[in-house]
Amino acid sequence: MSQTISRPALSRLVDAWISAGHMVGGPVRVKSLSQDRWGLAHFAESSEQNVPVPLSRRGFGLGSKDDLVQYRPLTAAGDLLLEGFIRPANSIKEFLFPRHEKLYGYRIAGKQIELTEAPLLEREQILVGARPCDAASLPILDHVFHWDCEDVFYSRRRQRTTIVTLACRNHDEHCFCTSVGLAPDAPQGSDAMLFDLGNGEYDVRLLTEKGRRLFEGQTQSSDSEGKADPGPERTVDVEAIRHFLDNGFDNPAWRQSALRCLGCGACAYGCPTCHCFDIADEGNAAGGWRVRNWDTCQAAMFTMHASGHNPRPMQVQRQRQRIFHKYRVYPEKFGVVACTGCGNCTRSCPVGLGVRTVLEALQPEQTS
Ligand code: SF4
Ligand code: SF4
Repeated sequence: MSQTISRPALSRLVDAWISAGHMVGGPVRVKSLSQDRWGLAHFAESSEQNVPVPLSRRGFGLGSKDDLVQYRPLTAAGDLLLEGFIRPANSIKEFLFPRHEKLYGYRIAGKQIELTEAPLLEREQILVGARPCDAASLPILDHVFHWDCEDVFYSRRRQRTTIVTLACRNHDEHCFCTSVGLAPDAPQGSDAMLFDLGNGEYDVRLLTEKGRRLFEGQTQSSDSEGKADPGPERTVDVEAIRHFLDNGFDNPAWRQSALRCLGCGACAYGCPTCHCFDIADEGNAAGGWRVRNWDTCQAAMFTMHASGHNPRPMQVQRQRQRIFHKYRVYPEKFGVVACTGCGNCTRSCPVGLGVRTVLEALQPEQTS
């Protein structure tokens, strides 16, 4: 026996959450793409962003081939997009680890320095329609933000966030969740998971107490059970990659596979598990805020020392670092790879790199 909810009932529930003052987020069609007479794709609705979209990005993380879909705060249930695309171009980490965040304020008057607390999230957050490969990033981020000290900003958001995922019904050539031990219906990080029954109803699986509270009294008993997509064929052998990383730090294959990397960082910003940030002071001598902003190990200045020495001066070293961290350093410390196989890094890379492409190129090297 399963529990189901109809799409209209789900919409009413989403509107009720918004009316109750919760921050509700989910996939939203942000822009439509159109093609010009030369066949270049453009964002159609905004003149300021009316620039050609790189070929490699067409249809990647952009929902359908014609749309840009992102996780965004919803103003009404009508904005929530649950079908017709592979996955959003960004990730839900933005709701727990924002791109830009105030840590504390400062005010200086003569010799007096006054520090003020930055506001912590008060509202409950509900993310609905998240992809399982996004939700699975949260247990990974939990380790990072808690292992040596508690990051109160992340913790508060995590405690106040409920994740309702939608099991995937399709995948594209960039998805490889099954290679990293996940699946289109992997439950990691989800509080509830919806399965599209294809008849206007969803099978609702309640996975945690938070999920149960959210749907209490809102579902109907049913005999229908939803099924997810079987998922992509496994193409990356994580054990083989680990073996290669144990011995292949100086292997020339790194150069072959990563030489074309531009260091733009697009792969990291759309990645659900990348979590690097930089700390800066915004203000002047009288006062301002200490803030943190997303950063990436792909940036040339990321490891620059105050002395001027940079231990990773070459882009190929920075690309190698990203793979090492996700597939060797993090698993050594926490037991799982820091990658959910979502494929966003490849979809958003202007030169078609990304973790899967590099891993597949490195794989044959593990036997040499
Ligand atoms: S792998 Fe691609 S997206 Fe990442 S930094 Fe290099 S060029 Fe940019
Ligand atoms: S490294 Fe790439 S495939 Fe892995 S979680 Fe990040 S964006 Fe997704």
